[in-house]
Amino acid sequence: MNSQNPSRRRFLIQAVVAAAAIPFVASGVIGTAQAQALKPLPADNAQAVALKFIADATKTKEANFKPGSNCGNCQFFTAATGACTLFPGFSVPAAAWCSAWAKKA
Ligand code: SF4
Repeated sequence: MNSQNPSRRRFLIQAVVAAAAIPFVASGVIGTAQAQALKPLPADNAQAVALKFIADATKTKEANFKPGSNCGNCQFFTAATGACTLFPGFSVPAAAWCSAWAKKA
């Protein structure tokens, strides 16, 4: 005979699932998995070529390059994921640069 209350059983299952997820959230594994969903921006991407994207900002020869500027201090960059607003679905290195760089506010 099973006298266990179904809502109590559901609560216990949810509590166990939530407790099991805590170490993954705390360690950043879930955040890392989301970051891995972004593919590194290929150098031959048409928009990357048009915007003179370069993986190492210090190696660019572009006239409008401001010393010290890179993706890491660009307003379009999200450090947690490496995402750039201008290249949806791709990640860019913090040390990269392109001609659309704009100082982070
Ligand atoms: S817009 Fe900014 S973050 Fe995106 S690639 Fe260019 S410099 Fe990097």
